[in-house]
Amino acid sequence: MDNGHHPGPNGTSVIPAGTEGAATNKTVVMGAGPGGLCAAYVLSKAGVPTVVLEKAPFVGGLARTIKHQTEAGEFKFDIGGHRWFTKNEELNDIFREVIADELLMVNRTSRIYFDGKYVFYPLKISNALKEIGPIMAARAVADQQLQQVKQKAQPKEIVSLEDAFVNQYGNTLYKLFFKRYSEKVWGLPCDQMSGDWATQRTKGMSLWTAVRDAIVPSKGKVVSLIDEFMYPREGFGRFSERMADTITGLGNQIQLGSGVERVHREENKVVAVTVATEHGSERIEGEHFISSIPLTLLAQIIDPAPPAEVVAAAKSLTFRNVITVNLMLKKRQVTPDTWLYVHDRNILFGRFHEPKNWSSAMVPEGDYTSLVVEYFCSFGDHIWSMTEEQLVEQTIKHLIDDMGLITRDEVMGGFTIRAPRAYPSYTIGYDKPLEVIKAFIGEMTNLQTIGRYGTFRYNNTDHSIETGLLAAKNVLGGHHDLEQVNAEKDYHEIKRIPEPAGAGRKTGA
Ligand SMILES: Cc1cc2nc3c(=O)[nH]c(=O)nc-3n(C[C@H](O)[C@H](O)[C@H](O)COP(=O)(O)OP(=O)(O)OC[C@H]3O[C@@H](n4cnc5c(N)ncnc54)[C@H](O)[C@@H]3O)c2cc1C
Repeated sequence: MDNGHHPGPNGTSVIPAGTEGAATNKTVVMGAGPGGLCAAYVLSKAGVPTVVLEKAPFVGGLARTIKHQTEAGEFKFDIGGHRWFTKNEELNDIFREVIADELLMVNRTSRIYFDGKYVFYPLKISNALKEIGPIMAARAVADQQLQQVKQKAQPKEIVSLEDAFVNQYGNTLYKLFFKRYSEKVWGLPCDQMSGDWATQRTKGMSLWTAVRDAIVPSKGKVVSLIDEFMYPREGFGRFSERMADTITGLGNQIQLGSGVERVHREENKVVAVTVATEHGSERIEGEHFISSIPLTLLAQIIDPAPPAEVVAAAKSLTFRNVITVNLMLKKRQVTPDTWLYVHDRNILFGRFHEPKNWSSAMVPEGDYTSLVVEYFCSFGDHIWSMTEEQLVEQTIKHLIDDMGLITRDEVMGGFTIRAPRAYPSYTIGYDKPLEVIKAFIGEMTNLQTIGRYGTFRYNNTDHSIETGLLAAKNVLGGHHDLEQVNAEKDYHEIKRIPEPAGAGRKTGA
């Protein structure tokens, strides 16, 4: 009997839009990125009837992997390299369980390119001070000491991103290593962005302690920056594809090409959603609803509409887009880096990675490699307005003329991927409208919001799936507060390990 399951584009089976039977869904999940899929994965394993509704014709959202066939073989591209890292072992277990025999451990070495020089990132102080020269280095150390004394004597509230960076690094290092890149990412001066982002994403360190430790190493607990990460051999998108395979394998449904257009409520209870499919509109009912679609969109499609201030709040929040230029190259290797951050203002892109350095399976066998080059932009600005041909050409020119990394005859071809609304923008004051939206959504008794744009929080995949996991546990009877995920002010990339560090490391790429 044909139960409506057909092989989908990811090798998973999907229910074609418009198929009967969705009325018995206990849980309706909106969006098939890692967040939504993790919720459905957990629910499917617990035997809960669940349907995932996805607007795109594929699963994986921002964390998908794009395949590109050439005469030399297949190239694979993430939308900006996605590494897996979390301090939460329950999430690591899920990742390992899903990726299973496709798991690699990859060494991380990333650098910043600035004014023709390279320094390690996260900053290794001795290397950074060496590269900037003795006079600038002395100024950087003195500057940071002064900042620490000032902050102790008269503590100043950290409001902006600039405050946060200067507080962590002092003015000299902020200007050298943080200001230009952050302004590329956000498209705004750092004094207009909220300091919230910096506390979790960068870790200040005392330059004086670093200099002193280089001479007389201190004893006690070792603090280590994360220098290796997990990665699926065939690209990060395999994480979503494999969760999708399990969900459909357990008899639940992933409905691709089904964009949620209306979320129907009766008072404070969501009763159904309407999706637009190629066959027309379809109403899908459920008992529990989990949304990973943009929070700003969700607030505007709830029916009956929320109070006007909620809709106004949703319209006031902003985000940044990403365009990746994906280049295929007849060359063995461009750089040894995991990521290379490019600070120079005359180079329009912000960062690139070389997928082969993450997994050799990302490029055809032989002397081939590729680059994924990231441009940060907003709708209508000069980067977003460039055509695919212009962006590819601009990228090639920067790599040849400004950085000297490739030659024209090594370029086999290139194409772009546009990812709108990839970064929720923490502009100063963003928290007020966000509170208004969340207060309204919070009144809905059976609607949970999860994920990155689903919660308007700068979530990595681990946080996104954590919210999915907790939402699923709540459907199963738990009482978890999703707001606590990624709310800690602690730096994400540090692990504290008892001395001696001990464990061996393996490389996969
Ligand atoms: C350039 C870049 C690099 C990154 N690097 C890393 C990294 O190294 N490590 C890491 O852990 N994370 C990284 N991330 C973050 C990671 O991509 C996200 O945390 C993760 O994809 C969020 O998952 P999600 O399910 O919340 O959202 P998404 O992946 O955005 O998925 C949401 C889904 O909802 C769908 N959708 C939207 N509207 C509708 C609608 N109306 N109806 C139905 N479906 C809809 C979308 O099509 C999408 O599939 C990076 C992100 C970017 C942009």
